Amino acid sequence: MSPRSPYNRKAGRPRPTKLPTDEEIAKEVRGINAAGKSGINYRELSLDLHGMICAKCAREFTAANRHELTVHHIDGNDKNNPTDGSNWENLCNHCHEAEHSRGRLGDYLRGDD
Ligand SMILES: [Zn+2]
Ligand SMILES: [Zn+2]
Repeated sequence: MSPRSPYNRKAGRPRPTKLPTDEEIAKEVRGINAAGKSGINYRELSLDLHGMICAKCAREFTAANRHELTVHHIDGNDKNNPTDGSNWENLCNHCHEAEHSRGRLGDYLRGDD
């Protein structure tokens, strides 16, 4: 495998700061790939697909508070990350907590099932 740089922009004018070396770029690209494999990028993908809005209470988010929006896994399996977003739901902190306490902890505490 030879990682190709997506940042192969031409240096129009010489810059005083040093440009990243091929090795540095390759390292960064590998980092991005690793993040994708471990599922870290699904958050961005889900926000992109479903929009920055809570699926339960319809609270809208902006770039300023988007970190309060959580990507919830509908089937509860955070390893299940189809890129069409079918297992993701964007929930605000509040709704996300409610979703989890209702599904598992709630049942557990009540002794249901
Ligand atoms: Zn909500
Ligand atoms: Zn969740």
